[in-house]
Amino acid sequence: MTEALYMSIHERLTVHYGSRLWRPGRNGLDEFILTILSQSTTDRNSGRAFVSLRQQYPTWQDVADASVAEIARTVRVAGLAQDKAERIHAVLTHPDVCGNGYTIDFLRDWPLDDALSWLMAFKGVGPKTASCVLMFAYGMPLLPVDTHIQRVAQRVGLVTGKSPERAHAILHTIIPADMKYEAHMHLIQLGRQICHARNPECTRCPLHDICPTAPRGQHVQHP
Ligand code: SF4
Repeated sequence: MTEALYMSIHERLTVHYGSRLWRPGRNGLDEFILTILSQSTTDRNSGRAFVSLRQQYPTWQDVADASVAEIARTVRVAGLAQDKAERIHAVLTHPDVCGNGYTIDFLRDWPLDDALSWLMAFKGVGPKTASCVLMFAYGMPLLPVDTHIQRVAQRVGLVTGKSPERAHAILHTIIPADMKYEAHMHLIQLGRQICHARNPECTRCPLHDICPTAPRGQHVQHP
């Protein structure tokens, strides 16, 4: 039932937003550090903190050699600077990272669950952060669930309740591996642009005709 519902959603979002296929981007360690910086802040602030870090310290070894207090000062625009600096320092001084020349590319060849477990062994790294790193850096079949995806999935009836962990488990099961990246990109875009937390714009939503939350009897205005 929910698998069929997701296929209907996928069809509509692909028509509305086009295909979103994974392509290689940042390397895994850059993605990991940026994802840590992005916790509980905006993409804009985490991006500025990442740029500051790279400008202040040309190599990841330079960051590893810096004190936590120095790192915290450099990334303060991202908020929670002390916690994030401690996490970044812990990653960069981990023997698997510094001992391999400041890379986590070894994860690419690991079984998915082992790669997730390695990342989540770091304090402050949960399933969402770990899934983001493996999905964006290596194209692994994962679907990180953020607040936008959780909200959309709940409103369209893919999941019940407000728990991101539960939503993650359900979506991971019902969405085929080769569609997970695209599902993440589509659902997050819908959540950011149309299915807002307050005042969702149901009348211009491509899921209006199948969404149980949408008010009935209104004309759908596709952009
Ligand atoms: S129809 Fe409305 S509630 Fe449903 S997904 Fe679209 S914007 Fe969200």
